Parts: sequence; C-alpha cells; structure tokens
Amino acid sequence: MIRLGIIGATGSIGEQAIGVLNSNRGRFHLKFATAHTRRSELELLTCNHGSHGVPELFVTSEIGSQPVLDAIHLENIDLLLVASEGVSGLEYTYAAANAGVPVALANKESLVLGGHILMPIFAEMGGGSQMFGGVSGGGVSGVSGDTFGAMFGGAGTGAGTGAQIVRPGVIPVDSEHSAIFQSLMGQDTSSVAKIVLTASGGPFRKFTPSMMAGITREMALFHPNWSMGQKITVDSSTMMNKGLELIEARYLFDMPGDKIDVVVHGESIVHSYVVFKDGATIAQMGVPSMLAPIAFALGYPYRLETGLPTFDMLKYPTLSFEAPDTARFPALGLAQEALKVDSPCVYIGLNAANDMAVAGLLNDTIGYNDIARVVAHILDSEFLYKTDTGTIDGVQSLVDEVQHKSTQYMKRLR
Ligand code: NDP
Ligand code: MG
Repeated sequence: MIRLGIIGATGSIGEQAIGVLNSNRGRFHLKFATAHTRRSELELLTCNHGSHGVPELFVTSEIGSQPVLDAIHLENIDLLLVASEGVSGLEYTYAAANAGVPVALANKESLVLGGHILMPIFAEMGGGSQMFGGVSGGGVSGVSGDTFGAMFGGAGTGAGTGAQIVRPGVIPVDSEHSAIFQSLMGQDTSSVAKIVLTASGGPFRKFTPSMMAGITREMALFHPNWSMGQKITVDSSTMMNKGLELIEARYLFDMPGDKIDVVVHGESIVHSYVVFKDGATIAQMGVPSMLAPIAFALGYPYRLETGLPTFDMLKYPTLSFEAPDTARFPALGLAQEALKVDSPCVYIGLNAANDMAVAGLLNDTIGYNDIARVVAHILDSEFLYKTDTGTIDGVQSLVDEVQHKSTQYMKRLR
C-alpha cells in the first residue's frame, strides 16, 4: 500500500491521478489532498475515492501553506504528487525533499525555479544516484549511474507486494520526461548522445507569421491534443511549455543544454526519445493521455491499470516530425538561449516572467504576442543577475522582484 499525498488534487493532473487510484484499488492509501479554490470539488473527488479511510483535506489559501508543509513532514507518506500550478509547487516539492519523501513531479516550474537546490537533495535520497530505483532483492532493478544522481535510486516502502521498493527521489510526471526516464531505464547513461523532447506544436503549429499576429486569448486556450489547465495550455501554444521542459530535462537528467533537442511531432504519439552514441534510439510511445505517465510515476516500478486501450500502431501509419520554428515561437528561442547561459537566475527570471505574462493574457492585461516580449525584457534586465539564488528564500525573493518588474513592464505595453 503506497501512502500518498496530492498537492493540487482538483486540477487536470490531480483529477486524473485520483482516477488512477480508483482504477487500482487496494494499492494506495490517500493520506491527504489539497485544493486552492475548489473545496467542494476536492471533497467530491476524494469521497468518491473511498475505501482507504478519509484523507485529510486542505485548502491552500497562501503559497507554502503551513498545515500542508506540516502534513508532508508528519503524515508518514511514501510519495507526494506535486500537481499544483506555477510557482506554488516549489515550497511543497522542497518540503518533501527535505523530509526525505519521494516526489512524483508534475509541477515542472518547481524544477525550473529550484532545480539547482532540489536535485542535490533528491540525489542524496537516491543514495547518490539521481533517478533509477527498483525493487531490492531482485525484480526490477535500475542503473545507479553517477551521472544521473537524483532519479534512479531512492527509498520507500512496498506497493503491497511485500518487496522493498527503491523509489527515486523524484519521478517525472510530465509525459516527455516520463518517456525519457523510461527510455533510460537499464541503460548506460554515459552513452547518451542526445535527449529529444517531442512537442505537439500547439494550436498554432501551422499558422503563418501574419496569422500569428492575430492570436487571441480564446484561441490560445484551445489545444488540439491535450486537455490541461489554463496556464499550461497557453504555454503549449507559445511553446514556452517546451522551453520550460528543456530546463526541466536539463536538471532531471543532468544533461548539458546542447544534448537536449526539441522536435515538433503534431500527433503526440512519440512522447520523447533518447539517441545513444552507437546510433540506437529508444522512444516511448502511446496515445496522448496523461493517465499513463501519472500511473507510471505513482506505481513505479510497477505498471498500473489506467483503462487506456491497448496501443495499436496500425492506427498511426504516418507520423510526422519537423524542426521547431523559433521565429514564430520566440518563447522557445528564449528558453534555448537561457539553456546556453545555464544559470539558475536566468531560469528563474524566464519562469517568473512567463507566469506573470500568461496571467496578464488570461486577465486581458496584455496581448498574446506580448508574452515573449515580457520574458525577453526580464532576461535583458541587469537586476536578474544580482540576487543570491542559493536558497529557497533567495529564489522566492528573485521571483517576487521579477513579478514586480514584469507587472511594471506590462503596464507600459497596454
Ligand atoms: P490546473 O490548473 O488544472 O490545476 C492546478 C491545481 O493547482 C488545482 O488543483 C488548483 O487548485 C491548484 N492551485 C492553483 N493555484 C495554487 C496555489 N497558489 N497553491 C496551491 N495550489 C494551487 O493545472 P494542471 O493540472 O494542468 O497542471 C498542474 C501542473 O502540472 C502544472 O505545473 C503543469 O505545468 C503540470 N503539467 C500538466 C499537464 C497536464 O496535462 N495538465 C502535463 C504536464 C505537466 P483549485 O483548482 O482548487 O483552485
Ligand atoms: Mg509535457
């Protein structure tokens, strides 16, 4: 029985995670779950969950809600799913890392903001290896390559099988990173030539530059392949989502930026792949549904029921791949430039400015094409490079400053 906490249970990922729990009764004990605004939905979701005792429910009115932080430390959980939105995930991810609780991480912003602080802690939890764990005493075993530090190792207790699970400090929920994680299992990680993240390209993949100029908030909130929360839907449309994922991959897999590529793949069937130095390439595929990566992260190293149909390659006789166009999607270009600098303050600036700009679009303060302008403005600002970002407080204070400066700049754009 996996004792689980969920941050952001009322969101798109949170709800699907509860669906996975429902499909795998007897494997999980939901100890607590949080919502931010939707208290009644939280009650409904978790009461439907049933069978394993009543979970504690929290409404997080502030960033880093103390009762939730206490629960992470005191509830004796085996795994915390962090699926809240934007900057809000960082404090909870950090609390779990400090409490020695493995994290199933959907909230990519946690890593973009705090990967430089979090990954060394996750690596310690993994006994010095970053990602691959397994089951001790045989069964599924992983690579414990030093290159990968925080993911392939770790601690925790069994999934009802009686075996001792060696769970990594952090397991990605993001579908691309889950695909890379799965493609690397059992591999010699020093032989990786490239990690390639696939991108759907979003709703504007085929837009001409002049069509791009006319994009509205409503158009940005429609995604052809995925049903997600508003912020990530907008990020997918600008391709900033892929930019954040590049940085997420850089931290999770301890890869230099020049070994992480993006390929646009409109069908979202190949979820990402790894190219090895001998030319062998391992991809992970499936229908576009977050249920599979969520289930993989929650059940690791076991595969759980998801209710998804058996994958049939014959339904996808032609798959397409193309290079991304950073002229039409400047947000992705900004993230690629940030990777070249490879500094936490640049990643923090990019993430926090983007958060503010997306919020600005959602509340009609700025236009769609202003999003990349706000991010570029912040990345060009000198103040960004003057804050000590070695602590979570330092990160938070830089986030606050970026938010303030972004707001001022957005007023000039109106
Ligand atoms: P949603 O907007 O659907 O849900 C966000 C969740 O976070 C809700 O439970 C919401 O509570 C809660 N929340 C919002 N603000 C705060 C806050 N300040 N403090 C604590 N909790 C808060 O988002 P998604 O589920 O789509 O995405 C969640 C995370 O997962 C994001 O980081 C996203 O990038 C990532 N992700 C999502 C994917 C997807 O397919 N949706 C795919 C890959 C990654 P309430 O609803 O009660 O207000
Ligand atoms: Mg993704």
